[in-house]
Amino acid sequence: MSGTQKRLIDSAAARAEAKRLSNKVLVGGSLVAAETDATIDVIHPPTMEVIATVPRCGAADAARAVEAAAKAFPVWSRIPARERGRLIAQAADRIEAELETLSQLQTLETGHPIASQSRGDMATAVDMLRMFAGVSGELKGETVPDAQGVLHYTTCEPIGVIAAVIPWNGPVFTLSAKIAPALVAGNTIVVKSAETAPLAVLRCAEIIQSFLPPGAINMISGVGEEVGKPLVQHPAVRKATFTGSVNVGKLISQYVADKLIPVTLELGGKNPNIVMADADLALAIPGVVAGMRFMRQGQSCIAGSRILIQERIYDEVVEGAVKLMNALVVGNPFDENTEVGAIISQKQMDRIQSFVSSVKDIPGARVLCGGSPEADSSMPGRLFMRPTLIDNVPHDAPLCQEEIFGPVAVAVRFTDFEDAIRIANDSVFGLAAAMWTRDLGTAMQFAARIEAGLVQVNQYAGPRANVSYGGLKVSGLGKEYTLQSMLNHFTRSRTIQINAGLRS
Ligand code: NAD
Repeated sequence: MSGTQKRLIDSAAARAEAKRLSNKVLVGGSLVAAETDATIDVIHPPTMEVIATVPRCGAADAARAVEAAAKAFPVWSRIPARERGRLIAQAADRIEAELETLSQLQTLETGHPIASQSRGDMATAVDMLRMFAGVSGELKGETVPDAQGVLHYTTCEPIGVIAAVIPWNGPVFTLSAKIAPALVAGNTIVVKSAETAPLAVLRCAEIIQSFLPPGAINMISGVGEEVGKPLVQHPAVRKATFTGSVNVGKLISQYVADKLIPVTLELGGKNPNIVMADADLALAIPGVVAGMRFMRQGQSCIAGSRILIQERIYDEVVEGAVKLMNALVVGNPFDENTEVGAIISQKQMDRIQSFVSSVKDIPGARVLCGGSPEADSSMPGRLFMRPTLIDNVPHDAPLCQEEIFGPVAVAVRFTDFEDAIRIANDSVFGLAAAMWTRDLGTAMQFAARIEAGLVQVNQYAGPRANVSYGGLKVSGLGKEYTLQSMLNHFTRSRTIQINAGLRS
């Protein structure tokens, strides 16, 4: 492992918290035992040690949680919107006060580095809660000019019980993006956590619940189809919101099709990060490396995993990127110096490795850095992998077309702007895209023609509160993170016309 002097964090408090949260669901206002006796082990990926077990819930637990949320709905929805916002803001303060333990909890279950990833994730989640709390007063309808004596207005109302299904890669941040707009808008919610990362989200939900009427937020754990499916299909659930893979997103849509309820889907990406020959390479080269989100081992929907480089500067950019990637510190996620932590599971590592090993079957393809799993002598697991760059791969190969969800990027050569746009848009995905150029006309042409929901020029920033986020094509349906997204996706509107019966 590359390493400087280690500064190991003592994670004892987070480990104790993991034990306290074990075998619990949050239903009806407090942590309680599940209906089921079956459990799932929660693993610390770098060491493979079991840090907790959580209930492997099924339809009975889903139904109990939905009933609790349905019971809380009339209470919570009648609290004035600005008061709801004030309570969510208080919960944000409380989460912020526990930021370090929550960050450690997330690092325990995900293997994300504490310093370069988990603390930032928590802070962004707190910001998300505060942003939605702050716009709670904007939940209002319209009045429409009408005939004299006729009052014509629209309402802006909560929908009811929301079901949210979330992934493991940025669990608390994703949780905040669902619950903040759902709750501020007056809905109640049941969240199904991801199998591998159910702990930090459970503690966050418990904190938020302590400020709300019992049952306003509920959380159950378990395997996707066993509990996620009955949850979204429950008749009392009036909206489903999902973040995860494309295939499961399609299933969620199918599960609720009969009920005809609204669905928001935030799905995968294979995002192009394009370097034009006129770019400022001092910004662009670190930009394409940072865009790969190696700080969460590339396990990010927004990772700029297709690095498109104009021929004239190709060698210079690749050489610079490899140098930076080789310098990243990989290892124990509880070491303050670590920049790249552990892959979430052996299953995910095997999937990543199958993509890397496909290189040997592609004539001319090269692994320029990284590639294989690495051991850390201080840790028994085999889930570390150095940032990997592969090139000379035809663009129709799975390496260029499929979401790998690991620390693996492909470098792709292009001739001119038209070629770059053609290659960038040659994907079923449309989540995010960036271009590095000094030419304003090129930047504007790119912005107009790239098929992606989030488009950036000369930067590759991550999602954050108040910046609209959501994919095109198979990357998703609907937007998140803004006032507009709350109004569009977490409220319903009715039109009321009242005729005063005036006689002229
Ligand atoms: P996943 O789709 O396997 O699982 C996501 C959630 O869905 C988990 O809670 C899982 O238990 C549940 N699930 C699985 N099968 C289910 C089923 N049949 N019915 C109901 N629920 C089911 O995804 P993952 O591996 O946890 O996360 C990685 C994926 O998430 C990647 O594709 C990534 O791009 C995507 N993602 C997207 C965004 C975004 O904002 N666009 C953000 C983070 C992750």
